Amino acid sequence: MSSSDYIVVVQCDQVVHEVCPGFLCEHAFNARKDAFAPYADRPMRYLSISCGGCPGRATERKLVNLARNLKKRESLSSDCVVVHLSTCITKSNHHGPRCPHIDYIKGQIRLAGFECVEGSRYSPIADERRAAGLYTCDV
Ligand code: SF4
Repeated sequence: MSSSDYIVVVQCDQVVHEVCPGFLCEHAFNARKDAFAPYADRPMRYLSISCGGCPGRATERKLVNLARNLKKRESLSSDCVVVHLSTCITKSNHHGPRCPHIDYIKGQIRLAGFECVEGSRYSPIADERRAAGLYTCDV
């Protein structure tokens, strides 16, 4: 990887549509904490996209578009990108349960040629509530 490497965070479209500007995930990335801790001290670029709505089939289209532009405009391949599924997709939280289409979305990310990692920003409050079993839809 180089200084031109990218992190792409895929957010739940419902959460983006209803409430989330993606600030806390970008904030965690900028601080290189939570799921972004492995990138400590590495200069990287950050993009955030949404899954496009259930069942998330726009994810592949967006990533294929990204791969095309990276190659055309920056001569970069998809190995220069790690795609993170945001925590609003991978874990239950106050927005709702873990995404029921997560395996389908992961498959699309791989199909588009990108590495996929689960998680983004971790909320200590949500972690506590999850551990206490307060999110009854947890899977
Ligand atoms: S497919 Fe999953 S991540 Fe996308 S909008 Fe539906 S619940 Fe959210």
